[in-house]
Parts: sequence; structure tokens; C-alpha cells
Amino acid sequence: MKQSRRKFLKITGLATAAGAAVGYSDTLTAAARLSRRGNPAPDAIYGNAPAPEARIDADGQVKPNADFTVASTVCIGCTTQCGVRVKVDNKSGTVVRAAGNPYHPLSSDPWLPYETPLRESLRWTSNYGESGLENRSTACARGNVVFDKIHDKFRVLTPLKRAGKRGKDKWIPISPEQLIEEVVGGGNLFGEGHVDGLAAIRDLETPIDPANPEYGTVANQLGILGTTDEGRKDFMVFRFLQAFGSKNFSGHSSICGLSMRAGNAAFLSDFNKYPHLKPDFEHCEYLINFGTSPGQAGNPFKRQGKLLARARSEGNLHYVTVTPMLTNSDSIAAGERSRWLPIRPGGDLALAMGMIRWIIDNNRHNSAYLSVPSKAAMERVGEPSFTNASHLVVVAPGHPLEGRMLKASDEAEKEDFLVIDGADGQLKTADSVDAARLEVDETIVYRGEPLAVKSSFSLLKESAFRFTLDEYAKESGIPAEEIAELAQEFTSHGRKVAVDCHGNTMHTTGFYTTWAILSLSALVGSLNYQGGMSAGGGKFKDMKGAAYDLTAYPGKPKQPGIRIDRTRIAYEKTSEFKRNQAAGQPYPAKDQWYPFTNAIETGLITGSINRYPYPLKALISWNANFVYGESGGENTLTEALKDPKASIPLIIAIDPFINESSRLADYIVPDSVLYETWGELNPWGAWLTKTNAVRYPVVAPRQVAFANGEPVCMDSFVIEVGKKLGLPGFGPKAIKAADGSLHPLERPEDFYLRLFENVALDGKPVPDADDEEIRLAGLQDYVPRLRRVSPQNWRKVAYVMARGGRFEGKEGAYKGAHLAKKYGGMVSVYNEIVGTSRSALTAEKYSGVPTFYAARLVKGEPLAKRYPRIEYPLTAFSFKSNVVSTPNTASSRLRDLRYTSTIDIAARTAESLDLAHGDVVELTSPGGRIEGLLRVREGMHPEAIGVEHGFGRSGEGAITVQIGQETLEGLRFRKSGACINLLGFADPDRPGRIALSDFAVGSNSRQVIPVRIRKLSA
Ligand code: SF4
Repeated sequence: MKQSRRKFLKITGLATAAGAAVGYSDTLTAAARLSRRGNPAPDAIYGNAPAPEARIDADGQVKPNADFTVASTVCIGCTTQCGVRVKVDNKSGTVVRAAGNPYHPLSSDPWLPYETPLRESLRWTSNYGESGLENRSTACARGNVVFDKIHDKFRVLTPLKRAGKRGKDKWIPISPEQLIEEVVGGGNLFGEGHVDGLAAIRDLETPIDPANPEYGTVANQLGILGTTDEGRKDFMVFRFLQAFGSKNFSGHSSICGLSMRAGNAAFLSDFNKYPHLKPDFEHCEYLINFGTSPGQAGNPFKRQGKLLARARSEGNLHYVTVTPMLTNSDSIAAGERSRWLPIRPGGDLALAMGMIRWIIDNNRHNSAYLSVPSKAAMERVGEPSFTNASHLVVVAPGHPLEGRMLKASDEAEKEDFLVIDGADGQLKTADSVDAARLEVDETIVYRGEPLAVKSSFSLLKESAFRFTLDEYAKESGIPAEEIAELAQEFTSHGRKVAVDCHGNTMHTTGFYTTWAILSLSALVGSLNYQGGMSAGGGKFKDMKGAAYDLTAYPGKPKQPGIRIDRTRIAYEKTSEFKRNQAAGQPYPAKDQWYPFTNAIETGLITGSINRYPYPLKALISWNANFVYGESGGENTLTEALKDPKASIPLIIAIDPFINESSRLADYIVPDSVLYETWGELNPWGAWLTKTNAVRYPVVAPRQVAFANGEPVCMDSFVIEVGKKLGLPGFGPKAIKAADGSLHPLERPEDFYLRLFENVALDGKPVPDADDEEIRLAGLQDYVPRLRRVSPQNWRKVAYVMARGGRFEGKEGAYKGAHLAKKYGGMVSVYNEIVGTSRSALTAEKYSGVPTFYAARLVKGEPLAKRYPRIEYPLTAFSFKSNVVSTPNTASSRLRDLRYTSTIDIAARTAESLDLAHGDVVELTSPGGRIEGLLRVREGMHPEAIGVEHGFGRSGEGAITVQIGQETLEGLRFRKSGACINLLGFADPDRPGRIALSDFAVGSNSRQVIPVRIRKLSA
């Protein structure tokens, strides 16, 4: 029976499940007789499995099933954003399954050559020819279920306006036309007095505050918050925010990984683009994961888990995961190749600095690499990267150049750094020297004057040697011998070594933690090496491409002014500083400024609440859940936001759900979700070849529509607002083509199809899609739109859409021993921008090299001093599982897999506190408390308390809301579990209520929370 069935029919997907069940047929049959929640299954053998989307006959013929469409798009089940193929039931128009897109590197490795016909790709992912698992393209457990969100009964499908006071969870549905009229026109919208609408706020002439002209004009008083970029951020920023004339946009980095991103930016000498590094898992020989856990969580979740597993079994990888808790990254099956190193929460900075000390002390660093002082020298000697380790930093106290890198000229833009030639000891420009002296601590003659300088490397060495290995061991909780052992192993694999970090850096010294960790890779020179560190594989040109420049449009205004979150500018450049300096007291400022941070999400809100530097008049919060996502957000923001006059007078949330943040809005604009949405995006990390994914609605969005038939969503909303306001870049002559002609922006497709066209035409254009491919990809309905928007190239755009994007072949990853896509900038052992910056509150100079700081408040007091261990003996940290992802915790199917969360504690700690598995306990921090079920476990650091992030919701169906006459009762399971962010608290040394943050870059601190624990009941 089994044999004949296999010969007779090879079925995509289903064949795998059935094949895997050989030997378990009784179990399978029994299981399949029941469907979800106890209802009988329609088929005794195949259970509830839907019919396959295609059949592969024994001779390899592909027979698509006309009942289904298989469309390529992107999963937004987590921030990884894998390419997926979505199976849509043509009768009901609903998604019934998501699988991996075999063309997309985040779902498949190796991935299909791009020009593989679609028909052939169906064979590739089937069991035909016994291709087995190797060619499978997968979605993870989460990606397989979260599309139930599309039909969630708590989805907002029509615009809502608050009824009564803000935050009372009472709403009335309004028409799309009323929404546009009111948010643009303003007026006495809530019976609480006049509220300025967007038309009044778009004032490009009137200064916000004449006493502080650098604040810019009133238009800056519109702020926009987004979330992780799911392919539409450029539309919001380039087309709407910039046309409006405001500078105030922030994504979610500051509540996710800003300390890590800023540390990478410092290391890679680029505070504009904020690049970041990931290991080349596939060829790495030794990897240290600091506070990140491939295989359990992280980005790209699926890809790095697969590459790690393959490298440890088939490659040469050995790796160590340094976390307070044993994670899924470790595998007993991997034997000695995988190792867990338990660390105190927040101990990573001490560990990394200890390793740096040991490496330098034992001369295990790569001096030859570190001596290469410039790109020109790098190319001459055949290295793929270079550092500023040999560059000279002025250290003469009080000298006008103190903290600056020594240069030949005074031109700010010119990078003619000076070094001491290792061959003859002469001062020369870095470009002219192949090997510069690495250790320098001397007084040189510069422009005829003596000047004290040290090399970047000498400053790093000095910094690392401030503490002994034993002191680093005490701070990190890792014994000195283990620090030494780790450093020795790390320096024993040439360039095929890598480090990674992410969630562990979300605390008060996370910026320096990241920079110290990355500096380990500089000491061995693994950047741009196969098996080393990569800044990513790049992309095909999208916003500015061969066909259109989508960033530019006639009448685009300049955006003068500074940001409300006080980022990207030094306090010393403000009028406030000048006034204070003239009064003889330049410091402190009223609050902190962040000269090398790109954006702080809640800085837009706290800046407004605290009226510093200026208040917002309106906030558009687009899928941003800052109240839930910020540690301390609920404790510091919610009450303040309930008062429109004291916080932000107009809050418009664009959101498919009423969540912890959008419930505090005045209007909710429904947004599309998952497979209803347009977008274009690139991977976040761990990819080595050009990759662009595209999203387009593969199922009809469920929201109500504007008069032109466009469903209400972020894109259509801002188009309607843009047209109503008469903003440049919207309406009939809005989009600029390469030939100078202008095209309309009336609908989302006017923008996104042209964006796809740019991708299709970059370099050697993609082929045309033929009729069969259009049919197989379910694109027939798009043909009229494609012909309208891209008359010359519509078949090329269809080719990209049919494959879910454009993907370079895997053969483009390496050139010899180097990565083909190299990071081209300088690695900063010393960063001049950081080293010449000061705290605006204390005038404290920031260290220009990685250095050890104990966890601290913004003004420098150690947390351990303000909150002594006698009061708070434990330290709470958050972690993520391989199932739940915060944006999708409301998914009913996902919660079938993981119903609730626990508070995790080490067995020996629990025993010492007389606590038992299953106790209901209370955690108390200096600013909050939570309750939860205790899970006593091995594999935990004894000082640590772990709480999985994503539970304990008070939005998205966890609370009861009233919409018009309808009451939607909150669901208990959505509320279930503990929310670690309720333990977050305000930094007591800052004015206003601002959650504890990274002292240097302002990123939210979630990971090193002092707590005590108490049993409530057994
Ligand atoms: S890793 Fe994330 S994006 Fe990828 S399939 Fe899973 S849930 Fe979807």
C-alpha cells in the first residue's frame, strides 16, 4: 500500500508528512481521526490535511490544483520576515497554509537558482526523486499558524474614534471620510476643546520656539512611530513624513536592540546608516553567542538555526552560548561542539573586557592585521578590512584637539589620518603606510609643537588593563580560568571566528557591551572573511533605481530642526548650552542628549510629556506598541498619555488591533496584516548575497474601503491625508521617472509596483514572466494593474512578484577566502565621535574605546549601590522562546502551542528561599511588581530570574472593549502569563518619568532588573 501510493502519487507537502509517518501509521491514524478541538476529521488517514496545491506524477509532471493559488510573499510571524509561499483556497479566499519560498535564502539553503521556472520549483519542494529534506523550504511552527490573525475577531476593520475620555476602551466606528476630515481639519473633536488637525500642524514657517531656533518649525510637532520595518517604512518616511516636513520618526529599535545597533555603529564607524554584523555561520570554526541564542530565537530565526545545526554536524563549528539560562542553542547531540557558559545577567561586558585583556596580555591579537592603517594599505596587502588601531588620538589634557584623531589637514570630511610608519618611525598619512606602529604612547612633534598622542590600540589596552582578570571574573560570574580558556580558543582559529550578541545588550551599559564584544573580532581580524563576520549581502536597488527615484518629488521641503528625542545632536550645539555657558554653568542640561543615537522611540513621547525640547501636537503611532514593549512603559507612560493636554493633543494609531498603546489613541486607523499587505524589504542579518523580498496583497484585505475602493490601511490612509493636505509627492504628478516624466500616487500600487520595477531592472534586468508563470503564481488579477503602472516592464515586475522578490545566487557569497560583499568602512578601535562626547547631565566624558562600566543610573551611580542586593538579591532578565513572538502572542493557534509563561528560577536558589515548582510568586523591582507561576529548573544562573517576553497582555483581545453598541469580551488566555516589562522603572536621577536606559545611547533597559521574590501561594 505504502509503496504503491508512493509510486502513484508524489504530493507536495503531504507526501512528506505521510513519508515521515512510516512505522507510526497506527498512531497517525488514531491522531488523524480527531481534528482541532475534538471535531471528527474528514479523512481517516489524512485527517484534516487540506488537498495538496500540486501533484507530481511518477514521471515528474507537475499538476497544479486549480482549487488553490500559491503566492510568494513574506511571513511577518516575527521580525525575521522569511520569504514564504502562501496557499490560498480560491473558493473562500482564505489562507490555508504557509510554507517556505524555495527562492528565498531565509527559508531555504541552498535556495533555488533565480531563473528556475516556477513549475520546476514545485518539484524541488516535493518528494519527487527522493530529494528528501535537503531541498525543503520551510516556515517555522510560528509561521505555520499566525495567519489566523487575519480572521481574529478583535481585528479593527473600520476607523474608530474614542468615545469619552482617552484610554477608557470605548470607541465609535466612523467612516473613512470622517476620519480624514477630522484628523486633517481638527476642531473640537472630543468636546474637550480645540485640537489642531494635521493641516494646522503642517506649518513650515513658524518656529516652534524663537528662543531655540534650532528646534525648527511647527511641522516638527508631528511625530510618527513605526515598528520593525516590514517593507513599508520607506513609504512612510520618504513619501509622507518628509513631504510633511517633520524630522520626527522612530522605529522600535530603542525597545528592541538599539544598544546593540549603536555598539555596531561605533565599531563600524557609521552612525548614519547604523550597519551591523552577524557571523558567517556556515564556515565559522569558533563562535561565541553572547546573550543570543540561535535555534531558540533571534534574527534570522530560521536561517541561523539551520546554519548552526548544519555547521556543528557537517562543518567545523564549535560554539559557546553565554547566557544566564540554558537555551535551545545547545544540543547534547552536538557533544563538545556546543557549550553553555552560565553568566550573571549583565555580566557580558566584564567577560568581553576580560577576554580583551587576556588576548593583549598574551600577545594573541593579530598585530599584522591591526597595523594595516587604511583602505589603500588594506588593498595593497590583500586584507579584506582595516581598523584604526594604529591611528593617533590626541590625549594632551585641555588641548583643543583632545580626543580627536590626528589628521594631516583640518578638513572635517578628509580622512587623512596620521600614523607612525612601523618601518622608519616617521609620522605619515595612513594611506601611504602598509604597516603602522601599533602601540604608541608618546609626545610627537605636530605642526612644530609637541603633542601627546596614543594609538587607538594603546587606549584599548589601557582600558582593558584597568581591571584584573579576577575583577572581571567577579563582575561577570565567569571564573578567570574560563575567561582565559575562552580567549585562547577564540584566538586559535585564525579568521574563521565570530561573535554575536543582541538581547543581552538591552541594559544600562549595553552600548559598551556590544562594542567590547565586537572588538574581539577586530583583535583577530575576522571581518569580511569567510567564516568570520559579515555586514550583509546587500540588495538590488529599490527606492532609487533604474526606472524611478522614489525618494524625490517636486516641492519636497527641507526639514530644518532637531529631533524631539534629542538624538543625532550634541547638547553643546544647542541654544540652551550657549545660554548656560554664558551664565557660567554649561552643565547640566535639563535632561540627557544623545549625539550618536539615531532615534529613541519613547523619546518622542517623553520629550512631549516633559516639554523638552518641545511638545508634539500630534502623534501617528503605526503598529508601534511602546507601552507593552518598553520596560517600564506601562509605569512611566500610560497615565500621562491619558491626558491629551498634558501629553499629546492628537494621537492617531494605525493598527489592526486595539493594543496596550493604541487603546490610548484618539483615532484608530485599521491596517492590513500579513498577507494583505504591500512592501519591499531586505533581510536583517546573516545573509551574504543580494536579497530583496516583495509583498503584495495575496488575499483581499478585510478593512472597509475609501471611496476609490482602496481598503483603509497605512498606505491608503497617508495617501488620502497627503492629497487632502496637498502635500508634494501625492496626487496626479507625484512620482518621478528616470526620464523626468511624472506619474500619479493615488493608490498604494502606484508606489509599490514601481518599487518592484526598480528591483527588476537593476543591473541585468530579470526575464519576462510568461503566461504560465503568471497563472501559476496566481497573478492573473494583477495583470491589468501591472499593465497600467508598468506598461513597458510589467512582465518583469510579474517575474519578481511570482518569485516573492529578487535573489542573487548563492555562488555570489564568497571570493576566495573573503566575503564577496565586504563592509567597506573602517573598524573603530577608538571612535572619535564617542570619545569627544559628554553626558549633558554631568559633563562626564564618554570613553572612546570599549571599557568596563558597572550597571548604572544615567548619572553614574551603580545600580547595585542605589538598589543594594540586601533589598533586591536577584536580577531579572527576559528571553524569547522558539514559539512565541511578541507581535503575535494573541494568535489562538500559537497559544495552543504555548498557553502561558512562567517565572524561572534555579533549583538551588529556589531551595534556599523555600520556594517550590508551581508556587505563585511575586517579583518586586524598584518600580513595579508582577505575579506568576514559578518554574524551578536546572540550567539557570543562581542569581538570575528569567521571564519569557510576550505574555501578560492587556491589549489585542485580552481586555474588554466597547465598539459602538457591541461589547467584545476580553479572552483570559490572552491575558495569561507574566509581563516582565511591568518590572521596569524610571531612572530616579532624570527629570520627568523616563524609563531606565543605556546611559550612553538611551536604549531601553530590560535585562538587568534588580528584584526580590516572595511566595504568594503554593
Ligand atoms: S521565523 Fe518568523 S518570519 Fe520566518 S516563518 Fe517563522 S515566524 Fe515567519
